Amino acid sequence: MSQATKTDRAGWLQGPPAECAPIPAKTQSPWRLVLLGAPGVGKGTQASLLHERLGACHLSTGDVFRAAAGRSECEQTPAMRMAFEFMRRGELVPDSTVWDMVRERSGCIRCGGGFILDGFPRTLAQAEALRRHMESERLSLNAVVNYELPLEEIVSRLSGRRTCQKCKAIFHVISQPSRQEGVCDYCGGGLFQREDDRPESITVRLQAYERSTAPLIKFYKDLSLLVSVAATGSPDAICERTLTALERVARPSSSTRSASPSQG
Ligand code: AMP
Repeated sequence: MSQATKTDRAGWLQGPPAECAPIPAKTQSPWRLVLLGAPGVGKGTQASLLHERLGACHLSTGDVFRAAAGRSECEQTPAMRMAFEFMRRGELVPDSTVWDMVRERSGCIRCGGGFILDGFPRTLAQAEALRRHMESERLSLNAVVNYELPLEEIVSRLSGRRTCQKCKAIFHVISQPSRQEGVCDYCGGGLFQREDDRPESITVRLQAYERSTAPLIKFYKDLSLLVSVAATGSPDAICERTLTALERVARPSSSTRSASPSQG
């Protein structure tokens, strides 16, 4: 598992016809992974580290909604504006809106560089839609990584999390503070607390997770795809643990069809 080139995920973040730079290299045996775990468990950080190690693109549905929220009103569709309202309250966006958004980006699912889905699927209906779509494309997942962490630690991680508005790097006010308060170490962008990381939204999000996402664990266990990983310790330690678990259970097979790179 070598170091990979970081892509800008333009095709994913903006949707077609945007193109990623660089276009992900088509590999013989791309990794196609789903990351599960409650909000705050560190899926975004792990997706980014796994992208560096495995090359597959980090595809976060939350990032797409946040990127769309930053655009001007006239560039936003009514469905997107409705999605922001759900997001602001910490609730899940309706399945149909999420699936329309993902389907529009199906080039990223077909991409010969593979993918690491973070924050999708989040409900059984979304998981079924993804399974049907991948089957129709003759693609299969290598594994679904389920990150596990005690509840008290989840709440502490979420309430202290700060995100760079420019490069999306993630910090924590106690465990991983930036060198200068409120300023990103990597690009100098301003750090902000996501609206849905405020205490009133955290409770709603954890309840939504229990209700809608926890059943996915059974769904993927029944498909023999589930790999559980403890999300304790440093991000690097968790990443190593994930890679070890993946090596054990889910080496991608070169017989899996690898289609041409996505438009993005
Ligand atoms: P995340 O960054 O993954 O925590 O997502 C932030 C917010 O975006 C969530 O709290 C939801 O409101 C919305 N969201 C992102 N992905 C999904 C999804 N797959 N299904 C429903 N809502 C989603």
